[in-house]
Amino acid sequence: MRSDGRELREQRDHEEKSKVSDLALFGGVKMFAEPQHVGRPNIGDRKRLISRIEDMLDRCWLTNNGKYVQEFEREVAVLLGAKHCIATCNGTVALEIAIRAAGLSGEVIVPSFTFVATAHALQWQAIVPVFSDIDPETHNIDPAAVMRLITPRTTGIIGVHVWGRPCDIDGLTAIAQERNLALIFDAAHAFGCSYKGKMIGNFGLAEVFSFHATKFLNSFEGGAVVTNDERLAKTVRLMTNFGFAGYDDVVYVGTNGKMNEASAAMGLTSLESFEDFITVNRRNYDAYQREFADVPGVRLIEYPERERGNYQYVIIEIDSEAFRLSRDELRQVLWAENILVRRYFYPGCHRMQPYRSLFPHAGLVLPATEALVERTLCLPTGTSFGVSEVRAICGLIRFASEHATEVRRRLERNQRGGI
Ligand SMILES: *Cc1c(COP(=O)(O)O)cnc(C)c1O
Repeated sequence: MRSDGRELREQRDHEEKSKVSDLALFGGVKMFAEPQHVGRPNIGDRKRLISRIEDMLDRCWLTNNGKYVQEFEREVAVLLGAKHCIATCNGTVALEIAIRAAGLSGEVIVPSFTFVATAHALQWQAIVPVFSDIDPETHNIDPAAVMRLITPRTTGIIGVHVWGRPCDIDGLTAIAQERNLALIFDAAHAFGCSYKGKMIGNFGLAEVFSFHATKFLNSFEGGAVVTNDERLAKTVRLMTNFGFAGYDDVVYVGTNGKMNEASAAMGLTSLESFEDFITVNRRNYDAYQREFADVPGVRLIEYPERERGNYQYVIIEIDSEAFRLSRDELRQVLWAENILVRRYFYPGCHRMQPYRSLFPHAGLVLPATEALVERTLCLPTGTSFGVSEVRAICGLIRFASEHATEVRRRLERNQRGGI
């Protein structure tokens, strides 16, 4: 039995609320003493990481296609069963390079319900992102909506595998073939996920991953373009390194998109814990699912059982009628308790700048997106998070709903200035 201070603090951290005035929002003690962030990094075996860093320093090779970058690229390609992996400094630059190497110009169709980098990677190089609506069931780009947005200026489509759930790859592939458009996937969430039994990384002209600290698999910062297209792979590799084909031999316009050795060392270390990360995420996800089973108005998004998934995102949709509080009212309750849930991807790319000014009426064709951004919350999970924390958070959410009338009354009173 442990009776040290840590145990005591944890017990106090997770204390249940028995009345509404116990909520931190109304003056009670915060459920968590420390902020609980979404997307805290999954960290593997730190001894392995440190020994790689020592080795890197001993060899005095810090970047420029070093041993670890080469090893990381090889291992990623093997894991995904894809021919080529080009590691990059981050996912956004990988997207920019893939877009450029694919020769996109004019207009490219993307979902608005995505991280803003998907749109920025186009706008940054003066390509117009045309925002498509989504299927509210899957949160992913809707091929029927894509069809309606194709114009003579359209050159490509970027599908996003939101939350790691593959978008309708077959539907988009058929459109791309029929209309002669390039098809790229933003697979930033989908490392280790599969579509119809085949690993993400093998679809479209290229798929782009992010290994940012908050993603399932991280290399501090990092990304990769993965493709089975030999010519595209060559172009991407040149572009990632200023267009250098050899010493003093620049054959292409390029940028600096290289991954460094420290990042590759971290990436390799993360890869060694790949299965453990999934196990922990799955354990947390299953706990959330059990806890939410009897909470009206909370819908936990599900992952396809027959596919491989990384379970990195715990996303709930709040039906404010059944739950009796709005998503934003619940968010206030949770934030006050130090549970820093996020409203991904509120308010939608089309309502962020510069897109909001450039396309003020984009929302007219995005009804599913505009409805969804009012409902979603992303909850904490990952290797720094345990089942008892999950239970505590779910208990709190259930409590807020059960006492919705009083919570709302006190919230309104707070807003009027009193406590
Ligand atoms: C994280 C993310 C990116 C950007 O990746 P970085 O490595 O952070 O540059 C792009 N698209 C989506 C959908 C993302 O979630």
